Amino acid sequence: MLSLQRKRPVPCRRKPVDHVKQFYIGGQWVAPRTDTTLEVINPATEQPITSIAMGGADDVDAAVAAAKEAFETFSQTTKQERLDLLDAVIAVYTRRMEELADVISQEMGAPLSLARAAQAVAGLGHLGTARAVLADFEFDRPMGGTLVTREPVGVCGLITPWNWPLNQIACKVGPALATGCTMVLKPSEVAPLNAILFAEILDEAGVPAGVFNLVNGDGLGVGAPLSAHPDVDMVSFTGSTRAGIEVARAAAPTVKRVAQELGGKSANIILDDADLKAVITRDVGNMCTNSGQSCNAPSRMLVPAARMDEAAAIAAEAARDIVVGDPREETTRIGPVVSATQYGRIQQLIEKGIGEGAKLEVGGPGKPEGLETGYFVRPTVFSHVSNEMTIAREEIFGPVLVLIGYEDDDDAVRIANDTLYGLSGYISGSADRAKAVARRLRTGNVHLNGAGPDFNAPFGGYRQSGNGREWGALGFEEYLETKAIMGYNA
Ligand code: NAD
Repeated sequence: MLSLQRKRPVPCRRKPVDHVKQFYIGGQWVAPRTDTTLEVINPATEQPITSIAMGGADDVDAAVAAAKEAFETFSQTTKQERLDLLDAVIAVYTRRMEELADVISQEMGAPLSLARAAQAVAGLGHLGTARAVLADFEFDRPMGGTLVTREPVGVCGLITPWNWPLNQIACKVGPALATGCTMVLKPSEVAPLNAILFAEILDEAGVPAGVFNLVNGDGLGVGAPLSAHPDVDMVSFTGSTRAGIEVARAAAPTVKRVAQELGGKSANIILDDADLKAVITRDVGNMCTNSGQSCNAPSRMLVPAARMDEAAAIAAEAARDIVVGDPREETTRIGPVVSATQYGRIQQLIEKGIGEGAKLEVGGPGKPEGLETGYFVRPTVFSHVSNEMTIAREEIFGPVLVLIGYEDDDDAVRIANDTLYGLSGYISGSADRAKAVARRLRTGNVHLNGAGPDFNAPFGGYRQSGNGREWGALGFEEYLETKAIMGYNA
């Protein structure tokens, strides 16, 4: 049931974000080199919130030069100096968290409750993890007469998406600061305002000039020159597999390090000894969180083939109960999807599912009743899906769940691994069986019986879901080089 019959526009409760027409370079808010701008649209109202300046290669050059200069001194700071800096960043971030949540909700449509309790909090979690890892990290390790020392990798280009924007920004910026790297951030042009606030937070916290730089713009204008730049030592990219390949291609001639966190089509195996009603109801909710716009969304639900109709009925009922609506309302479970482009793509994939013969249980094409304005999508469940159908293979990035039947545990593992992706897996059922299946999945993360994310654990994918790992200690080490000094301990 839809709880909302909204006709009025969503109000902007707070003051507009400053600096939207500037970039943060060398510790200053500076004017862009060109006057191109882009409107930032509130997806719940389809109205512009503001316009941002769009950068180009010259802005990237200026930002990289500032980061390169700052690296000379920042790379030599002590562990204690960087711990103190992270403490200051965490303190300012914590104080401004409500502002961050508010902006995220406006620009990408997450319910304010989710933006507060998960989106903004995730950023804080990663900053805290980076600090904790730094506190315990030994940069020097003697090996006989040789010293093996870990050093910051250098100037980092950080390119991020819009779907969990601060989660992605903080899980890169936190370890980059902690290790003594300097950086240029290019956030998504679709949801850039939270990144501008984040830059203000770093500025207020006293991050030294040039250590952190922000250039807004699109993939071709800013992302590509940043990836190709000869003075950038590492690119950490999160986004689609398509763009991740382009980043790696642009980076290849300079042999820089490239970390890719890409798309997914994660399987959720419901074993036949699981409590179907409880588990499927829970996981339909998990699938639809953030309007299905999570790289690790449990988007392929694998159920015992003999119980397909029972599973489909449970899933349909759970999807019907999801309240779609105004992100500002307390009762809203999911808001709109982020953009007209994303809405159109989801609609096409829903039509494709129907066309390829999947059984539509609930939802389907078009907007939910009463929500004609805004990019709202009906929570949709398809059953009797084969793993060859387009809706089982492509990342839909919307609140669309597909149910696929399997015969036995071996068959479930085969179907789960039959994908180009390998980001996450989900298994519910008796602990021993779930653990055995977990070891057979070709994914970087597996969640057993509803276990949630862990900021201290490594996050990343196999196959076309990426390479490298973010979060926790392994994510920290991505920002380090290794040097062996022979004869050091002679
Ligand atoms: P996207 O690939 O369109 O954009 C991501 C970022 O890359 C943006 O900042 C964009 O401007 C930039 N970009 C685009 N083309 C580029 C190019 N040629 N060179 C350099 N930069 C370029 O992705 P999106 O729509 O913003 O985000 C959704 C995608 O991100 C989904 O596929 C999702 O699965 C993925 N994602 C992955 C993870 C993960 O950790 N694995 C996390 C969140 C999102």
